[in-house]
Amino acid sequence: MAVYHRILLKLSGEALKSGSDLFDFEKVNQVASIIRRMHDMGVEVGIVIGAGNIWRGRQGPSANMDAVTADQMGMLGTVINCLCVADALRKAGLDAIVQSAVDMNRFAEPFNAMAARRHLSEGRIVLFACGTGNPFFSTDSGVALRAIEMEVDAVLMAKNIDGVYTADPNKDPSATLIRDISYTEALERGLKVMDASAFALCAENKVPMVRVFGLDDPENLLRVLEGSDIGTFVHP
Ligand code: UDP
Repeated sequence: MAVYHRILLKLSGEALKSGSDLFDFEKVNQVASIIRRMHDMGVEVGIVIGAGNIWRGRQGPSANMDAVTADQMGMLGTVINCLCVADALRKAGLDAIVQSAVDMNRFAEPFNAMAARRHLSEGRIVLFACGTGNPFFSTDSGVALRAIEMEVDAVLMAKNIDGVYTADPNKDPSATLIRDISYTEALERGLKVMDASAFALCAENKVPMVRVFGLDDPENLLRVLEGSDIGTFVHP
C-alpha cells in the first residue's frame, strides 16, 4: 500500500538525456517502467516535464533572441518531452494522456482540470505540457499550479541532487542535507526547493507535501511511495 494516493511527479528535461543525445531511450524506458510500477501500487500519477534537454528560455537573451519567443520555444520543448514519455508509458502498458496549457488539439488535449482529475481517478497517467502556458515562468510553476488543481497528496521532485541542502554543496563543502522543513522556514532561510514563485504558491495553498530526492537511482520513486524517508520532506 503506497503512502500517497495521488502524486505529481516533476522530471527535469535533463533526466531524459545523456551526453549530446536529446533522448536516452534506455533512461526514458526505465522511467516509464518505474511509473508503471507506481501505477500498479494503486497510485494516481500526474507528470510535469521540463525541457532542459532541448532548450531553456534563459538561453535566449545571450543568443540575442526575444525573451518571449525563447520561452515559447522552451514550452514547445516540454511538449516534445511529454509526447516522448507518453509514448514510452503506452509501450509499458499504461494509458497516458498529454494535456497542454497551450492549445494544440492535434497533439494533445487542452488542459482541463476537471477532465484531468477524472483521467487520474480512472487510472490514466496525465502529462501536463507547456508549464503554465505563459512566458517568464518555469515548469516548477506549472508543477505548483497542477499540484494544487489536482489536489495531490504529494509533489515528487526527482532531481540530480538527493535533497535540499543548507547551501549549494558544489560551492560550500560544509553544506548539509536537510531532512524535514516547513514552507515557512524554507522561505525564511531562502532555501531552494524549487523556483521561488512556484514554492511560494505551494506554501500559500498548503500543498500537503513536497518530497525532494535524487533520481540517480530511479527506484527511489518507488521507495518514496513505499514510505522510505529518503531525501527532504517539505510541508506546511
Ligand atoms: N517555460 C515557460 N513557461 C512555463 C514553463 C516553461 O516559458 O510556464 C519555458 C521556459 O523557457 C523554460 C523552459 O520552458 O526555460 C523549460 O522549462 P524548465 O527550464 O523549467 O525545464 P527544466 O530545467 O526543468 O528541464
